[in-house]
Amino acid sequence: MAINLEVPKKHRALIDQAHQVAMNMLRPISRKYDIAEHEYPKELDMLAAMIDGLSESGASEGAGATGVRRDSDESDKTVKNGSNLASVTSVAEMCWGDTGLLLSMPRQGLGNSAIASVANDEQLERFKGKWASMAITEPSFGSDSAAISTTAVLDGDEYVINGEKIFVTSGERSDCIVVWATLDKSLGRAAIKSFVVEKGTPGVKVERLEEKLGIRASDTAVITFTDARVSKENLLGSPEINVEQGFAGAMATFDNTRPLVAAMAVGCARASLDLTRDLLREAGVEVDYDKPALLQSAAAAKFLQLEADWEAGRLLTLQAAWMADNRKPNSLEASMAKAKAGRVGSDVTLSCVELCASVGYAEEELLEKWARDSKILDIFEGTQQIQQLIVARRLLGLSSAELK
Ligand SMILES: Cc1cc2nc3c(=O)[nH]c(=O)nc-3n(C[C@H](O)[C@H](O)[C@H](O)COP(=O)(O)OP(=O)(O)OC[C@H]3O[C@@H](n4cnc5c(N)ncnc54)[C@H](O)[C@@H]3O)c2cc1C
Repeated sequence: MAINLEVPKKHRALIDQAHQVAMNMLRPISRKYDIAEHEYPKELDMLAAMIDGLSESGASEGAGATGVRRDSDESDKTVKNGSNLASVTSVAEMCWGDTGLLLSMPRQGLGNSAIASVANDEQLERFKGKWASMAITEPSFGSDSAAISTTAVLDGDEYVINGEKIFVTSGERSDCIVVWATLDKSLGRAAIKSFVVEKGTPGVKVERLEEKLGIRASDTAVITFTDARVSKENLLGSPEINVEQGFAGAMATFDNTRPLVAAMAVGCARASLDLTRDLLREAGVEVDYDKPALLQSAAAAKFLQLEADWEAGRLLTLQAAWMADNRKPNSLEASMAKAKAGRVGSDVTLSCVELCASVGYAEEELLEKWARDSKILDIFEGTQQIQQLIVARRLLGLSSAELK
C-alpha cells in the first residue's frame, strides 16, 4: 500500500483554521496566562463554543476530543484519513500556538477522549457537552498504573469511591472526572475500571492546584474522593472482572491519547523551529535545505539535524493516528510516536534556546516558554522510559511481568 504524506485534502481547511486560531487567538494570550498561573483563560470559552459547533454540525471531523470507536463499521474496508488523523494534525497546529491553552480547552479533556473511546451509546449521550478530566495518578504511584489503590465498591445501584488522585489536568475546571479505581485489589490489573464522577458529587473535593515549570495555563489539581457515590451506569466499559483480558480494556484509551500527546510535542517543537529559523536569518544565518549540512555553518547544520529529528517524530505520530483510523492495532506505534515525539520535542525546544542563546533565554520571545512547556509531553500519558519499555515488550513478545 502506497503512503501519501501530503495533508489529506479534506483535512486542509481544518488544519488551516487551527493554524489561524493558534496564531490569532492563542499566541497573543500565551505569555499572559503563563504568568497568571491558575487564572482561567476566559478567551477560550468562545473558541470552545466554535469547536462544539463544528463537531456538532459534522463539518469538521476531528475538531473536538475524539476517541477510536473501532466498532463503528467493521465491514468498511476502505482506507481512511479519519478523525484520528484530523485530531493529531489540528492538535499539533493548536500547540504551535500554545500547549497549555490547548490543554485548557473546555470539553476537550483527556477524560473526553476516554469517554469517546469506551463509553456506550447511552453514556455518550448522557455525558455529551461535559468537560471531563482524567484521574489515574495517585500519591503512591505514577508510572505503575496497575498499583491503583483508589477503591470502588458496589453498594446497591451505586459504586462508592474512596481515594486520592494527584496531578489531574483540568481537575478544577472540568465538569466531571474519569476516575480509575479498583473493584478488588486482590485481583490485580483486571479489576481496575474507570468511572465518570460528576463534580458536585458529595465527597469529591479539589484540595489544591500545583505550581509548575510549564503549561502554566493548564490547571493541575489534587482531588480526594471520600465515600463519593456514583450510579453504576457511570462505569465505562464492562463491569466484569476478566482476569484473562487483564488491563487491556483500560489501557486501550492510551492508544488514542498517546498519539495526541505526541502531536502536542510536534506542534510545540514546530513553533520553536519556525521562530528560530527566523531569528537565525535575522542574525545572518540562512538555513539551506538543499545543501549538505557539513557545507553550512555550525548553527545551520544543527538546525537541519533538529528538523530531521522533528520529522521522524511527526511521521511516527501520523502513522499511529492513521492506523487507529483504519482499525489497525496501534499500541506499539502509539508508544513509539509518544517516545520519539516526546523526546524530540524537549530536545528541539531546548536546542532552539541554545541556538538563539540570550534571545532564546529571555522572556521577550516565547522560546524559553516552549522549552518549559514541552517537557511535560515527555512525562505524562506515560514517560519516555515507560514508552520504551512498552515498545521493548511488544517487540520481544514479553509480558509486563517478564520485562519490568
Ligand atoms: C503537569 C502534569 C499533568 C498531569 N496530568 C495528569 C492527568 O491528567 N491525569 C493523571 O492521571 N496523571 C497526570 N499526571 C501524572 C503523570 O502521568 C505522571 O507524572 C507520570 O505518569 C509519571 O509518574 P511519576 O511522576 O510518579 O514518576 P515515576 O513513575 O515515579 O517515575 C520517575 C522516573 O522513573 C522512571 N521509571 C519509572 N518506572 C520505570 C521503569 N519500570 N523502567 C524505567 N524507568 C522507570 C520514569 O520514567 C521517570 O523518569 C500529570 C503530571 C504532570 C506533571
